[in-house]
Order: sequence, then structure tokens, then C-alpha cells
Amino acid sequence: MTTWVELEKLQPVATRMLKNSIEKNRMAHAYLFHGPQGTGKKEASLLFAMRYFCEANQETSEPCQSCRACKRIQSGNHPDVHWIEPEGQSIKKGQIEYLQKEFTYTGMESNQKVYILSEAEKMTVNAANRLLKFLEEPSRDTIAILLTDNVSSILNTINSRCQRIQFQSLTYDHLFNQFISEEIPESTANIFAALNLDLNQAIEWNRNTWFAEARRIVIQLIDRVMNPKEEGYLFLHQVWLNHFQERSQQELGIDLLLLWYQDIISYHLDRKDMVVLTDQHSRLEKYQYVLSLGEAKTCVYELLQTKRRLAYNVHNTLAMEHLVLHLQR
Ligand SMILES: [Zn+2]
Repeated sequence: MTTWVELEKLQPVATRMLKNSIEKNRMAHAYLFHGPQGTGKKEASLLFAMRYFCEANQETSEPCQSCRACKRIQSGNHPDVHWIEPEGQSIKKGQIEYLQKEFTYTGMESNQKVYILSEAEKMTVNAANRLLKFLEEPSRDTIAILLTDNVSSILNTINSRCQRIQFQSLTYDHLFNQFISEEIPESTANIFAALNLDLNQAIEWNRNTWFAEARRIVIQLIDRVMNPKEEGYLFLHQVWLNHFQERSQQELGIDLLLLWYQDIISYHLDRKDMVVLTDQHSRLEKYQYVLSLGEAKTCVYELLQTKRRLAYNVHNTLAMEHLVLHLQR
């Protein structure tokens, strides 16, 4: 289990701000923890909640992590700590209403309550408006913690009612070493570090055959779009779309393609040391002659556009057809 001391090594600024507000007993009613995934937002919200309810340690900012309250929070069943996560694609109005109803009863153990919204950017507009009402009339002992890796998607009205705590990206080397120490192979650890995965997700993906297959399919698509005689379009329909079905999978597919095109650019710039897909040197060597630096940059631009289209809910098949048409040599 993480402690503030450990978290401070990764997130010195965010940790100091939070510890400070705990030590001075000046906690905000609502926090917005924002920053890339895997940067410790969830760990910080857990520590914060544990310290708020800890029965043993109120002298320092560290929770004891062994009292009844700390243990229940760790295992996710403290009656006054509520976690809200997207149901399907979004956090819905009903989930916020349910929370409010729960909160109108006084706390099981005290009047203190903490609620934590993971992926807060996925609130529907109705849910966000409902939450806003909640934030506008804070009860003294209730603390809201909103977590997001996409702060620009949070309504300004909500944003302005929260104390914002920024979580910085972890360095590539830090992530890479973390993954290697978990015995993730080097070529995979490179990809995970480039994708900014948190440790748990990296361990899961390393075990899971879906990700291994995704890597293979990305390379197969590359082989097809790089070769004028091959049909990327056909491969898209026969293989790609079947494998990358959910939104998060579709985004991952694009991210893996992005790594590949960025690696080609590294080759053109004579920066082979920057290559992420270290098991692909022979292909990169070959394809740098098929794709000029300018063309590779255009492909990166197209991939970023595709990500944007997916974020704006353009249908995946359409977005991918458009993409493959542009990538095909
Ligand atoms: Zn405790």
C-alpha cells in the first residue's frame, strides 16, 4: 500500500498540497485531481479518505493503514466512503441522485463523508448539473474528490468549485523500470511506458492474450498499408474491427499505430535510440524507404485526427475506413 512519503517521490507538488491541507486542517469541500492515467490520483484519493477517517493517527498526515476505518476503506467497504465509476460509457444522473439520497441520511459512523468520482469527465450533462447542485450546497463534513485524466472535458462550473490538484506525468524511465521489476519483457515494457500505463494495468495486459493479439494485428495492418499491392481496407473489415470493438480498445489500436509511425520518424531523424517498438527494427529499417519523413508526419496527423473523431463519437467503422485510406501507400 502506498504512503504519502512514497507518493511524494512521484508527485511532490500534489502530495505537498494535500498533506498541507490535512495538517492545517483546511480541507476543501471538493477537489479535482487531474493528470494522465497512472500518476497516483486514485492512490492519493484513498490516502486522503483513509486519513480523514483514520481512528488511530491524527497527529501526522499519514493514515495508520491498520485501524478498522483504514482497512475498510482499503477494501472498498467503508459505509461513508462512496466510489462512483462510469456505468458503461458514462456516469449517469441516477448515480449522482442515488449518492445524494445516501447522503441525506447522517453518516453511519459520523457526519463525515467522502465521495470519489473516477473518470469524472464521463459524467453526462445531466449528471454534471446534478452534481453541481450538490457542490453548491456543501455540508460541512462532506468532501468530494473528482478524478480525471481529461480536465478539459469537465464543465467550467464544476471546475471552478473544486480545488484543482495537478498530477504530473511520470517519466518514461520511471515507468519502464517499474515494469521491468515486475518481469514484464523489455519490448513490452517500452510500449507500456510509452502508453503511460499504471502498474496494475501493465501487469494485466502483459498476461492477457487480447493485448498480444492487438500488437500482432497492428503490425499486420502496417504490412498491408505499406504495400501498394495489399488491401488495408479488406484487412480492416476482416480482422481489425472484430478485435478492436470497445471504445478503449479502439483508442488503444490508434495509440499503437501512433507509436509505429513515431518510430518511423525516429528512424528518419537518425534517433534509433528513441524507438519504442524495439522488436520491429527490421520492419522500420525497411519501411523508412517506403515512407518519407513528411509522409510519416502526415500519417501521425491523420491518426491524431482519428482519435479526435472517435472522441466526438464519429462511428468507429467510418473513422477507421477514412484512416486506412490515408495510410495506404
Ligand atoms: Zn487508520
